[in-house]
Amino acid sequence: MVNDNFDVVLSVDRTLMTNHHGKEFLGFMTTGPPILVPEKVWMAIAAPKMEVDDIGRPREAPYGLRKIEAALLDAGIKAAVIDPDHLGKHLKNAKVLGIGHHDYFALGPPSSEWWVLTGKEPVNARYFKRFMEKPEIRAAKNNGLKIIVGGPAAWQWLWMPEYFEKWGVDTIIEGEAEKIIVSLVKDALDGKPLPQYVYVGFKDVPLLEEIPLIKNASVNGLVEIMRGCPRGCRFCSVTLRPLRHYTLEMIEKELQVNKSAGLDRCLLHSE
Ligand code: SF4
Repeated sequence: MVNDNFDVVLSVDRTLMTNHHGKEFLGFMTTGPPILVPEKVWMAIAAPKMEVDDIGRPREAPYGLRKIEAALLDAGIKAAVIDPDHLGKHLKNAKVLGIGHHDYFALGPPSSEWWVLTGKEPVNARYFKRFMEKPEIRAAKNNGLKIIVGGPAAWQWLWMPEYFEKWGVDTIIEGEAEKIIVSLVKDALDGKPLPQYVYVGFKDVPLLEEIPLIKNASVNGLVEIMRGCPRGCRFCSVTLRPLRHYTLEMIEKELQVNKSAGLDRCLLHSE
């Protein structure tokens, strides 16, 4: 029998909780508005629903959420990634909802270009707003749920204070969150106050050996092989992070996790 009482639920809207039919580049359609077809058809092509288990855990999930899940599990915290269509049951018990996104409000490229060119809000922003307005999230928030947001688009919350307030977001984490998330979640579980904003600087990122390895499958078998970049272009934020190359053993372990879930191919990701 599966223990499905999770203290921490990790999730995101459908534009990211999908495997894009196994065709990663279809994901770019989620950065635009529907064109020539209704939104439902656009989303059916770009972001189909994910296969889930009997308690709503997706077979594959965004790699960033899998890393946070792994960090929390390694720390002995009951956490799971849950599909956005299956949040209700879990949020009745959960104390923390963690959300990661590539482009919460469609402010990054290429979403912003699509928006300017078409005059229509891209589906990633539309779906994220609907996600945050879900009755089960609102009800849980009213019952004391803590909401922590992060991921590559965490910066966008600083430009959207009205949504930060409206949805009762507690903490924004900007930067690599695998180390800081454990202490923040422990504080939340202990009922301690959370900071509104955490910036993970050069010295605070996890060392190579502190980067947790995913425990469950990532979307389309994506695994990371390095963080940072040796080139040092001055305009690039990646240079603000130390260079870390995964060992072959680390890469193999994550590939094996995906293989065990039935994925027969992989995507190797670097900065
Ligand atoms: S990631 Fe690209 S832009 Fe950034 S430092 Fe490396 S080569 Fe330059």
